[in-house]
Amino acid sequence: MTDPGERVLKGIPVSAGVCHGKVFVLRKLELSIPETPVPESDVSHQIHRFEQALVATRQEILDVQKQVNTALGAKDASIFEAHLLVLEDPTLIESVTNLIQQKRIVAESAFHQFAERYTATLAAIDDDYLRERAADMRDVTSRVLNNLMGHPQQELRNLTEQCIVIAEDIPPSLVATLDKTKVIGFATNVGSKTSHTAIMARSLQIPAVVGLHDASGKVENGTHVLVDGYNGVMIINPTDQTLFEYGQLIRRHVTMEEKLKDIQALPAVTLDGTKVGLAANIEQTSDVDAVKYYGADGVGLFRTEYLFINRDTLPTEEEQYVAYRKVAAELKPAPVIIRTLDLGGDKFLSHLALPQEVNPFLGWRAIRFCLEEKDIFRAQLRAILRASAEGNIKMMYPMITCVDEVLKANQFVEEFKAELRAEGKPFDEKLEIGIMVEIPSAALAASVLAKHVKFFSIGTNDLIQYSLAVDRLNEKIAHLYEPTHPAILKLIKMTADAAKKQGIWCGVCGEMAGDPMLTPLLLGLGVDELSAAPPLLPWVKLLIRRLKMSDAKELAEFALNCDSGREILERSRALAQSVAPGLFDHSLKV
Ligand code: PEP
Ligand code: MG
Repeated sequence: MTDPGERVLKGIPVSAGVCHGKVFVLRKLELSIPETPVPESDVSHQIHRFEQALVATRQEILDVQKQVNTALGAKDASIFEAHLLVLEDPTLIESVTNLIQQKRIVAESAFHQFAERYTATLAAIDDDYLRERAADMRDVTSRVLNNLMGHPQQELRNLTEQCIVIAEDIPPSLVATLDKTKVIGFATNVGSKTSHTAIMARSLQIPAVVGLHDASGKVENGTHVLVDGYNGVMIINPTDQTLFEYGQLIRRHVTMEEKLKDIQALPAVTLDGTKVGLAANIEQTSDVDAVKYYGADGVGLFRTEYLFINRDTLPTEEEQYVAYRKVAAELKPAPVIIRTLDLGGDKFLSHLALPQEVNPFLGWRAIRFCLEEKDIFRAQLRAILRASAEGNIKMMYPMITCVDEVLKANQFVEEFKAELRAEGKPFDEKLEIGIMVEIPSAALAASVLAKHVKFFSIGTNDLIQYSLAVDRLNEKIAHLYEPTHPAILKLIKMTADAAKKQGIWCGVCGEMAGDPMLTPLLLGLGVDELSAAPPLLPWVKLLIRRLKMSDAKELAEFALNCDSGREILERSRALAQSVAPGLFDHSLKV
């Protein structure tokens, strides 16, 4: 538990900034289930909800079992038999039903009470087999509760004072709903730089550190901590000396940010006259204010997934249309690139009850999902098309692996255009369609794909994950996730070259685009546009304005002939630091 002395924990910095304050430890969902009383007339409804949740959970487990069977074989799949047995246990069904009837409480509360007692009894018995059953029970319990409650982690909505949230993990959907006036920073035991949780933290400009291993076990509610999102450090019980040193670091940053304000309205042009597109990545319509404030040349990536999560139903075509049109209208004439639904990986919709997958990042997701779920795709494509009447919308498909997918998606677009024409609804007949290049096969086939699209946007987050076979969410292998790996740079170069040859443009919208240290390298490789979280744009712009394209090209030339990702990173850092020294002054002797 909490040690009164200062303790420094090292993790991965994912969102810049420093904050200090009291900790709120986000505990697991089971700890905060309310014992809401219900009137007698509602008892049978609660029993029905409970039964429905059991049925839904059973279906989920059967789906998981089926996939495990295919992927790993019958032996591994058989472990889920125990889970299914828990759901059929007559004692469980009878006891929970009795609890609802006798105590007149909501189904989740009755179920939770019974499950807690049951698992505690099993876990306490000195028998390996029964302890395993307790783990099964916990697993099933959280599934049933998820099905009963819809949104599990609602605790963060009820915060009454400012705090730093510490948790095992915080799903992106929860970060998306954080109240910034209350949550001033967060730190998690697991996670990585390109998880969507981290991306959301950057968008929200909340200092964050992830991959801190067992941080949540070392603090308790009210412990005082400092989170340093520049250096990836969390300090428990910081001393006055530490707070003083951080005070100086913060002041240096404030000075730098003042300087950056001066260039906000100026163009991103290199010293030798190359204009670079500098666009913003956004997740929700309210991000438009930040796009304007930080002087972006439009939106390079609108991640539409966030319109779909944190709710119980799918957004209608009309709702989506209103959202897309609002963004386009407010930023006109600057272009807005809307990415079609990139569901999956670490972005799930609980209400769709999609089958659990063994390898979700390689699974039925993004464009693969949309091409099969025509109704969902139709609503989104019609909404984007209708909003395109504003005149400044472009659209791109995520997770493209081959030309066929582009052609199929385009066929849908043509079909829905025909519908809209027949209905007399206007849209931009010349709507430009591009693709994300984020899978190695797309980069390798870039010259073919270039013939079918109007632009490329390289998603380096996934490109790195898939090329190096490094799960972007796994902190244990975060050190292997290497943006400057020679193979990655070759894929970027190949994509940029293919675009040039075909006369289309090529941008980068992954996290690499927001790292000023890598700006010269990307530009040298031939990238035309960089798109990143709005607050990062002034930093990248300052670097561009002090850079000579000839130096960037020389660096890229060196990188393409170098065997070592580490050496490439060092050279990139050296060039970036030589042109804009103050930009990288985040270090602190801790
Ligand atoms: C990427 O993969 O680089 C990207 C920009 O998309 P996302 O992070 O949403 O997967
Ligand atoms: Mg991606």
